Amino acid sequence: MQIEQTEAVVIGAGVIGLACARALAGRGIETLIVERHEDFGQETSSRNSEVIHAGLYYPSGTLKARFCVQGNRELYAYCAERGIAHERCGKLIVATHEAQVAQLRKLQEQAMHNGVDDTRMLDRHEAEALEPSLHCVAALHSPSTGIIDSHALMLSLLGDAEARGAVFSPRSTVYAIEAREGAIRLEVTSGGAEVQLEAGLVINAAGLSAPALAHTIRDYPPSLIPSAFLAKGNYYALAGRSPFAHLVYPVPEEGGLGVHLTLDLGGQARFGPDVEWIDRIDYSVNPRRADRFYAEVRKYWPELPDGSLMPAYSGIRPKISGPGAPAADFLIQGPEAHGIAGLVNLFGIESPGLTACLPIAEHACRLLTP
Ligand SMILES: Cc1cc2nc3c(=O)[nH]c(=O)nc-3n(C[C@H](O)[C@H](O)[C@H](O)COP(=O)(O)OP(=O)(O)OC[C@H]3O[C@@H](n4cnc5c(N)ncnc54)[C@H](O)[C@@H]3O)c2cc1C
Repeated sequence: MQIEQTEAVVIGAGVIGLACARALAGRGIETLIVERHEDFGQETSSRNSEVIHAGLYYPSGTLKARFCVQGNRELYAYCAERGIAHERCGKLIVATHEAQVAQLRKLQEQAMHNGVDDTRMLDRHEAEALEPSLHCVAALHSPSTGIIDSHALMLSLLGDAEARGAVFSPRSTVYAIEAREGAIRLEVTSGGAEVQLEAGLVINAAGLSAPALAHTIRDYPPSLIPSAFLAKGNYYALAGRSPFAHLVYPVPEEGGLGVHLTLDLGGQARFGPDVEWIDRIDYSVNPRRADRFYAEVRKYWPELPDGSLMPAYSGIRPKISGPGAPAADFLIQGPEAHGIAGLVNLFGIESPGLTACLPIAEHACRLLTP
């Protein structure tokens, strides 16, 4: 069988793989991006809220906190530089009863610890002045939260990578990784043919499949590979015009950020994502689950009309901690963690992975090219 050689391979053309390919190619490294679908961004990177998070929630010192805060700044700058559609619309996290006000204050403290110093507590009148349809007793305003066209972002990352010599190979599935003396060999089916790829550097950015791919590496310490859990988030679109100009979030809940209202760049509102633990990948959206959304949303928008929520789409969080367990941090393992030269595995890149894509990519590259 033919063995193709390249300096670096990135497995997966989601926003993380594309950002990694851009960073590798930017260092003058010959890079191949291997993607099983027909095009880039067909999985989690196109099935999310498209929010540029500020970095309020994550425990200080975690990769999520660090990379989200840094990623927020870098992403706005990158969007401005490349003309990628985005909007710094801001978000309101709302307390709908007095007992939640303390949670908002805690959140503001956490934000400060993370280096986010632009949030402001609003009383009911100030919040209602910003959003007259909102019902709350207080709100935390985050002006540096925004929204982005994630497809345009990925297109730009791919364009940058290709301009620096990277090659994109769609319809190519990696099914095994083998660490050899001085190189890493990948077993790939590409356009129906079996191909072997050999590279000095490999980044496993396979999203939901990253842990399964790591299990194919014979010498990889199995205890380092996290268990994979799937937490589906369902979205429901609002029929008619959005009454809100800001994103509106309740205080966070277990496994996610609560049923929040996000906007797309066309001003269309959608609610979600909820948290549905599942056993296998299934993106169908059950219209009946919307029933629960009405009660949740009416806590902060009592005028939500009956029958106005339409099933829209879903995304699946690549969780590495299960139901009831505390949220895990991003888990990025380079040679110093697993002992295999030239390899980085990216596990658990759930939210805020879109926001954090640029610093995650830089970090992964630094683990390989110090
Ligand atoms: C419901 C939901 C809402 C979210 N909202 C936000 C948000 O508002 N803001 C934010 O910052 N983040 C958000 N996120 C997180 C963000 O979407 C992810 O962190 C990010 O998209 C992960 O990108 P990725 O490239 O790691 O994964 P993916 O986009 O899933 O890409 C992985 C790629 O690898 C490919 N692949 C897998 N296995 C193989 C193989 N064997 N061979 C070849 N190719 C392979 C897949 O086809 C896929 O294209 C959200 C996530 C979810 C699920």
